[in-house]
Amino acid sequence: MNTMKAVQINKPGGDLEVVERDIAQPGAGQVRLKVEACGICHSDVLVKDGLWPGLKYPRVPGHEVAGRIDAVGSGVTDWKIGQRVGVGWHGGHCFNCEQCRRGDFAMCANRKITGIDFDGGYAEYMVAPTAALAAIPDELPAVDAGPFMCAGVTVFNALRNSGARAGDVVAVHGVGGLGHLGVQYARQMGFVTVAVARGKDKEALATKLGAHHYIDSEAGDAAAELQKLGGARVILATAPNAKAISALVPGLGVNGNLLIPAAPLEPLTVPVISLIMGRQSVSGWYSGTARDSQDTLEFSALSRVRPMTEVFPLPRVAEAYERMVSGKARFRVVLTMAG
Ligand SMILES: [Zn+2]
Ligand SMILES: [Zn+2]
Repeated sequence: MNTMKAVQINKPGGDLEVVERDIAQPGAGQVRLKVEACGICHSDVLVKDGLWPGLKYPRVPGHEVAGRIDAVGSGVTDWKIGQRVGVGWHGGHCFNCEQCRRGDFAMCANRKITGIDFDGGYAEYMVAPTAALAAIPDELPAVDAGPFMCAGVTVFNALRNSGARAGDVVAVHGVGGLGHLGVQYARQMGFVTVAVARGKDKEALATKLGAHHYIDSEAGDAAAELQKLGGARVILATAPNAKAISALVPGLGVNGNLLIPAAPLEPLTVPVISLIMGRQSVSGWYSGTARDSQDTLEFSALSRVRPMTEVFPLPRVAEAYERMVSGKARFRVVLTMAG
């Protein structure tokens, strides 16, 4: 068998087309995966709608990939055929730029993004550089491992690098694709975990995911409620709504950090005087390297953090994508490839 099913986008705004393609051979320093599952991330909109500058078409999207190595290129010694691996947003780095020379591979000036700079995981097979690989623990099924490769690593890595310590108040704003994982990680990392969302609907779920406290942002002033808990050391803003995020800033405690891993379209409006008086900050968070993703997989396996998923077979990709874009999915949509 030399061809495979893949889903490609031919032009900005084009459809998700299921096509037959040749199965590529891995080059030097690359492996080929037989893909088992691939999450549909909101960032795939960048490929679908042509919002990424310089993106070349046709392109196969997908950067929440879980599968098994089925071929290795020359010079690959540490990864074996049959090994279970994930490929995420971080699609490799150059090892030579100033940031790489300092060991900060996520900030590589020439970093590659899976499914944007090269074809991703909406396919039965894909090729990836070894710098993009994370080993998947045995106990994690592929449909759970996939979403950890972008959504999972982003919130896990943001929280573990946030400076919050066990016992600190950490609020997770939004209980959705990122937030439902953020609540679980915050709880498992030992933080006083606060979920903040609109309405009462998500309270029972947030509690089940591990939140110690739930704040309904429609019922009153969420920032004031955070201050009643002593003020947040970290607010992880996962719902990309500039107005709602800005309203949380007065909920920060001393040295508090509003941490944003998902970009709202509008600018934030932040009262800077309170930032100064409380030595607070507002900052962005960028994903992580493949090893960060592997740490995410291992921590999730160990602490029983799991994504809630809706699973679709590859040929139903258009329906699956619509489900993600609608915002109605609970909470990550994952494609599976026929065995
Ligand atoms: Zn993503
Ligand atoms: Zn570099």
